[in-house]
Amino acid sequence: MNNAKAYSAASATSRLASTTITRREPTETDVQIEILFCGICHSDLHQVRNEWSGVMPTVYPCVPGHEIVGRVTKVGSAVSKFKPGDLAAVGCLVDSDGTCPACKAGLEQFCPGMTLTYNFPDKHLSGVTYGGYSDSIVVTERFVLRVPTNLDLAGTAPLLCAGITTYSPMRHWGVTKGKKVGVVGLGGLGHMGVKFAHALGAHVVVFTTSLSKKDDALRLGADEVVLSRNADEMQKHAGSFDFILDAVAADHDINAYINLLGIDSNITQVGAPEKPLAVSVFGLLMGRRSLSGSLIGGIAETQEMLDFCGQHNITADVEVIPIQKVNEAYERMVKSDVKYRFSIDMASLKSE
Ligand code: NAP
Ligand code: ZN
Repeated sequence: MNNAKAYSAASATSRLASTTITRREPTETDVQIEILFCGICHSDLHQVRNEWSGVMPTVYPCVPGHEIVGRVTKVGSAVSKFKPGDLAAVGCLVDSDGTCPACKAGLEQFCPGMTLTYNFPDKHLSGVTYGGYSDSIVVTERFVLRVPTNLDLAGTAPLLCAGITTYSPMRHWGVTKGKKVGVVGLGGLGHMGVKFAHALGAHVVVFTTSLSKKDDALRLGADEVVLSRNADEMQKHAGSFDFILDAVAADHDINAYINLLGIDSNITQVGAPEKPLAVSVFGLLMGRRSLSGSLIGGIAETQEMLDFCGQHNITADVEVIPIQKVNEAYERMVKSDVKYRFSIDMASLKSE
């Protein structure tokens, strides 16, 4: 067993604070990683504040973080793909049964025996798994990703959740050249969605509530930007989209976007607001439209996404912060004041 420095929340109303946690000694199939950067996902905030209590109640203390990039420090004797000194990344998953139909299909995120990176029963140690707001982590090799060497590491960390969560549904729903694609909410996920849709050749329209993000949306790869609170601007796009990705973290009117879909087209919900969204079925009946969800992505697809980012030089636009600013970052995230992902420089943990 090894001690690791970390930041944890003691309750749904506590600030995150410095702590010491235990990591397991690597088994023969494990990779031990020194964490260099960890992105801050809105899911971290939802879970720290127990906003998903109905689906995944938070167990405290909670060490969040599932956008992890670092350097390998030790490997078990059976590890073949990594050696000490290599760059490595870990996302939202750290284990699965490896044998069920979902795992065989490369959809480990839907395995009934999967383990999430934090707030999930830990198979090795008692209690729950602890995430990436920490200086180290130990993960079985099958869930460790290779990092393209040409990418900035602070901007690579968010690819492990915001990246795969937007890449996967776009690939699944056939986003490609000639398609009109909407991205709702220009936050961490949304801005990655814009980059991917643009790189895949689609005509990209961003829907934002923040006037101040308009120019950024165009710079990130959008062809058009719509202020979603302006009904006239919205109406101009009625019935015209092939695909819309909804990445909004709070309650909002999803029907306004369903009405923008063309015949047989799809809106995928990746945002996970605390409260259920009200859906008017008439919007779905008209045009045989569909509404679906998507959860991160499997391990092979996450590697494919990282390689795609390496080839296209895609990283998240990040504001790098020391871990001591994490509580302030959460407050700003609630106000949609993030351009466009916080990435924690874990060197800042050394002074704790
Ligand atoms: P984020 O960076 O906070 O971005 C969310 C964006 O939603 C904001 O920047 C804002 O964009 C928009 N927004 C916020 N409040 C709004 C409101 N009241 N009405 C309309 N728009 C609003 O969050 P994130 O990290 O991208 O995560 C987004 C959501 O996805 C969260 O719920 C998170 O838990 C979820 N998530 C899901 C998965 C999955 O696998 N499905 C994975 C990761 C995260 P504008 O300023 O442009 O309006
Ligand atoms: Zn996430």
